[in-house]
Amino acid sequence: MIEAELPVVVAMAILVGVLGSAVGSFLNVVAHRVPRGLSVVNPPSACPDCGTAIRSRHNLPVVGWLVLRGRCYDCGSAISVRYPLVEAGVAVLFVLAALRFGDEPRQLPAYLAFAGIAGALALIDLDVRRLPNSIVLPAYPVLGVLLALPGDASALLRAALGAALLFAIYLVIALVAVGAMGWGDVKLAGVIGGMTAYLSWGTLLSGAFLGFLLGAVAGLLLIAARRAGRRSAVPFGPFMLLGAWAALLGAGHLGDSYLALLAR
Ligand SMILES: [Zn+2]
Repeated sequence: MIEAELPVVVAMAILVGVLGSAVGSFLNVVAHRVPRGLSVVNPPSACPDCGTAIRSRHNLPVVGWLVLRGRCYDCGSAISVRYPLVEAGVAVLFVLAALRFGDEPRQLPAYLAFAGIAGALALIDLDVRRLPNSIVLPAYPVLGVLLALPGDASALLRAALGAALLFAIYLVIALVAVGAMGWGDVKLAGVIGGMTAYLSWGTLLSGAFLGFLLGAVAGLLLIAARRAGRRSAVPFGPFMLLGAWAALLGAGHLGDSYLALLAR
C-alpha cells in the first residue's frame, strides 16, 4: 500500500478508476471484434439491431448504460448488462493495481497494460474458447518494454526466466496431456510467468498454483453440473489470469513465505 496523504490516494484512485472504465469500454469492442477479425477502431460502435451509431453522450462507460436503462435510444432493443459489468470490473482492477503498485509508480504502466490484456483475453476465451495470437504475441514485447522502464535489471532477468519457466511447464502439460491445454494457454503462460516473476519467485509460484487450482475447481464444478463433458470445453485462460492477479495483488506473499521456509 502507498504512503501518501488520503486525499491524494482518493484522487488517484478516482482518476485510475475512470481510466479503467474507459479501457473496459474499449475491451468490450475488442472482445466483440477481434475474434471476428474486424478492426477495433473502425467503424464506431453501433446498435447491432438498428445499426444507429451510439451517440457519444451514451458511450460513457457504465453511466451511458444506466442513462439508457439498458436499451438502445433509437430502437429500444436490450443492451447486454455485460457491457457495464466489464467497464466496472476493469475500473476496479485498475484501482486495485494502482493501490498495490502506488509506492513503485514506475511499475504501474506495465501492470495496467497487463490488466487490459488480461481483461481482453479472459472475455474472448469465455466467449469463443480461444486466446488470439493477435493479442498474446504482442503482449511479450509490449509488457517487456514496460517492465524495462523502472530500470531494475535483476527483476527484469527474473521476469525473462519466469516467462520461460512457466511457458515450459505448460508446454510439457500440453504435450503430455493432449487436450488438457490449448496452445493459447501455453503462450499465455509465458506472459503470466514474466509478469509474476518480475515481482518475486513466490509471486510466480502463487499465481501458477492458484491458476491451476481455480481452473481445476471450475472444471470439476462444470462437469458436475453437466455443463461440460470434456476438459477442453472449459476455458482455462480466465482462471490462469485470475490466479496471476490474485498473486500480484497480495497472494504472492504466501509464495514468498513458502519459498523462504524451504530455503531455511
Ligand atoms: Zn438500436
